[in-house]
Formats: sequence, structure tokens, C-alpha cells
Amino acid sequence: MNPIRLGRMIVHKVHEMDSPVPLLSQLPGVTSSDLARLSAWYEAPDEIIDDPETSLMTFSVHSWVIEIDGLTILVDTCDGNHKNRSLQAVHQLDRPYLRNLAKAGFRPEDIDLVMCTHLHFDHVGWNTRLENGKWVPTFSNARYVFSQRDYAYFSRNPAGEELHFEAFQDSILPVMDAGRGMLVDEDFIAHGQIGEGIWLEPAFGHSPGCVTVNAQDDGPPALFWGDVIHHPVQMLRFDLPFAFDMDPVMASATRIATLERAADAETMCFPAHFRRTSAGHVKRDGDVFRYEWVEA
Ligand SMILES: [Zn+2]
Repeated sequence: MNPIRLGRMIVHKVHEMDSPVPLLSQLPGVTSSDLARLSAWYEAPDEIIDDPETSLMTFSVHSWVIEIDGLTILVDTCDGNHKNRSLQAVHQLDRPYLRNLAKAGFRPEDIDLVMCTHLHFDHVGWNTRLENGKWVPTFSNARYVFSQRDYAYFSRNPAGEELHFEAFQDSILPVMDAGRGMLVDEDFIAHGQIGEGIWLEPAFGHSPGCVTVNAQDDGPPALFWGDVIHHPVQMLRFDLPFAFDMDPVMASATRIATLERAADAETMCFPAHFRRTSAGHVKRDGDVFRYEWVEA
């Protein structure tokens, strides 16, 4: 897709892969009338969307590259290649992610800052790559920003989070060992100031230290919401717990607040897992919301 210009800032998408999973395995509780309402504005020909039992929920896995004030910032780093994972669908991947980054116009060494919205395996994978049998930072000139709260949580290898602990070991620790990681609070300002720069905001629930990345530079606000909302069906069913939210009640409250804010401020949204162009605007639609994608 074409880069998106917002004032003096430019945003590029770098795709890694699409992952289809059964809808009800992620969002138990979606009904056929939800899907009928969704189908009024969501076209996804390879997903069945009339029967929840047989519908798929296909995640796009991609990164965003922000160019702002001469800085090049990478938001979320997908699954990564050659990683041992206990989830078969992402075990030992070999995807042309770096080629896609090059197609967008960037070499790994061009990245100044890497920002992970949270420390789940599908947001940290390309932080490192295998070099002579060792995990080294992929973006050799970058500082990496990690949420202090997520770091503390995942470093303890908490029960039920084994997959993310695998990623912590091969995609976070080597960055810290190389002296390139920064553990920050959830209101960290990465560049400039609020309203004219890049800053984090807390978005707790999906993980303990989940944040959104916010950016603005003489144009409309941009919101990189990570996994606050995974799929457009959650515009209608923001109340439903997502199967992998650590704290479903808190995640739901964060989701609703994020949707309201995005709709009211006419924010350009950059979700971590929406398909097609991914970027778009949240619109109010009666008592729920709908999504309007930007053109390709
Ligand atoms: Zn994710």
C-alpha cells in the first residue's frame, strides 16, 4: 500500500504474514446477527462471515514505520524468523519480512527507534535475528523501547504465558544484553512533546503493560493501538472478552475508551492486526462503531 502522509509525518506498512484462526476460538460469544451487521461494511472474501461456528478470524501481522522529524521509528516487530515456538503456526518461520521492509524503502540499520506496544511474541519477533547461531538485534543502530511493566511481568515466566516467555528469551533479553533496550513507563515521550511528537499512553488489559503509540506532527493524530482491538468484529462486540486478554474486564474498558476517543478526535488508526490497508478511521454507528479503511 502507499505510505500515508499526516502533516509532516509519513507512515508505511511492512507485512509479515496472515494468520487465519477459528473466530470462536478468539471471541466466544459472537452471534450470527453480529456477523450480519459486520458484513454490511466488512468484506473479506476468504473469511466466512455468516455462521460463527465456521467463520475464520484472519489476523494480518505487520509493522508500521513512522518517519517524523528525520527519525525512522518501527512500531511492533511481528513474529520473526527461525524462532522455536510452542505454537506450530509460528514455529521456525521463514518470511520475507526484511525484503518487505526494503520494498518500503528501509534497511534494518535505518531504524532509529523500535517501539513494542506490548511484549507478546507476535510484536517482538524481529527485534532479533540469528547470526552465527546467536540472537542479535536486527536493527543495529536502534534503541528499543519496552514497557517496564510488561518486562517485569514476562521476565518472571508467569504460568500460562510460556509462548511469550519463549519470545522474551530470544527477542527481548538479547536486546537488553546488547545495551540497546530502554525500559520505560507507560507515559513515556519518545520524541518531541504530546501533540507534536511520539509518545506512549497506557492501554492495560491485553497485557499488564500494554501501551498505545501516539504520534502527531502538524496534521491529524495517529494512533497505533497494538492489540487493543484485534479484528473489526470488535467494533460491534467491544464488550466480549478476547480469549488472550490477560485481564478481560480491563481490556474491554480500554477497548471502549480507545474507540470513543478515536471516533471523536478523527484519529488515523493503525491497528496491529487488521487486514487490507489496515489503517483507517473509527466511526460511530448507532450504539456501536464501524471502521472505514483508507484506500490502498
Ligand atoms: Zn498481537
